[in-house]
Amino acid sequence: MPIIVQKYGGTSVRDTGRIKNVARRLCAAQDEGYQVVAVVSAMGDSTDELMQMAHQISAEPPERELDMLLSTGERVSVALLAMAIYELGHTAISLSGNQAGIQTNTMHTRARITAVRTRRLREELDSGKIVLVAGFQGVSPDEDITTLGRGGSDTTAVALAAALKAEVCEIYTDVDGVYTADPNVAPGARKLDAVSYGEMLEMAATGAEVLMLRSVEYAQKYKVHLKVLSSFSNQPGTWVREEDEKMEKAVVSGVTHTTDESKLTLLRVPDRPGVAATVFGALAERNVNVDMIIQNVSEQGTTDISFTVTQSDLPAAQQALDIITDELGVAYVIGGQMGKVSIIGAGMKSYPGVAAKMFKTLADEGINIEMISTSSIKVSCVIERDRVEEAVRALHQAFSLDEE
Ligand code: ADP
Ligand code: ASP
Ligand code: MG
Repeated sequence: MPIIVQKYGGTSVRDTGRIKNVARRLCAAQDEGYQVVAVVSAMGDSTDELMQMAHQISAEPPERELDMLLSTGERVSVALLAMAIYELGHTAISLSGNQAGIQTNTMHTRARITAVRTRRLREELDSGKIVLVAGFQGVSPDEDITTLGRGGSDTTAVALAAALKAEVCEIYTDVDGVYTADPNVAPGARKLDAVSYGEMLEMAATGAEVLMLRSVEYAQKYKVHLKVLSSFSNQPGTWVREEDEKMEKAVVSGVTHTTDESKLTLLRVPDRPGVAATVFGALAERNVNVDMIIQNVSEQGTTDISFTVTQSDLPAAQQALDIITDELGVAYVIGGQMGKVSIIGAGMKSYPGVAAKMFKTLADEGINIEMISTSSIKVSCVIERDRVEEAVRALHQAFSLDEE
């Protein structure tokens, strides 16, 4: 029998009514002849609520304990969902990530899946049960509970689909697919029928939270047939798959954004080999993810280096810089509140002038560009946070994404 993996996000299981809705969908998939695995997120905003409680007790909660706490959210969802399925006359079993055989490394709060042991999953499926797996979690070689980072249930679903060689991995969420921009920001956004793994990787990496970046990497690596669709409708959704001839190669297929960038600038750093390695080495040691980096021209043997980190990484970045700047005898400044807008498109490779059009569009809106970075299918600009949504709408229109 073919296997299907379906993942339901937090809004899709926000209350018991919605859990019953998901139960009906899972039973319907089983009635269609599938062996059904469902990965479920914590109800509504409960992960945020658990996080808030932790921070009411401690400014820096021990990460092992944070994982123990956060992993409970998805366990609530799977247990309630199993009960709802029994009410419909089908059988089900809820499993924690650990019970489902999801093994990870030891990086608490952002662990990576290292292996999936499918024995238990297969036994339960073969006995006719709908298997419900708590998303976003696994177990480390030390037998501690780990979590996979925000949005991690997407990665759980893709990893299970890969390990079980599922026919398809369906990601059910509160929008009916991947759009040309966040539909909550750009009202003219249009749903895409299909996007390539490459485009989706860039979109996820630059802020389209509809799929966690890691889940797309995983899907590409294991060629998982991935689909994003709504749990509230029966619309066809968006395929995420290998680029092929039939796929429209729009010059720009999407506009993405983030609103949580912080800019840091090291002033008059000695311009000699090894300095950048020291600075970014110290940041890497604290697991700070550095996004854009700019080094200015050298004047009298010194140079300024600016870079961006997410707001959540700012305290760790400051800790690292306090030490490093002391050692180097230099100063650093923290820039204002920043965001980032990006344009993505596989067709960009063969079209000159796309970046220029982006800069002109932002200039016409009177929006100053602080930093720029590019890849073969992406251009990103760091701008003032308050102007981000305006920039998304202007770019969406400038690249004719509103039109059919
Ligand atoms: P879930 O809880 O189901 O995992 P998420 O909140 O993580 O849902 O992701 C869905 C949200 O992603 C949407 O509500 C939408 O606001 C946002 N989003 C951002 N960019 C896009 C995009 N390009 N296409 C679709 N949704 C997007
Ligand atoms: N509940 C977790 C989060 O809010 C994981 C997920 O929903 O994917 O990030
Ligand atoms: Mg999500």
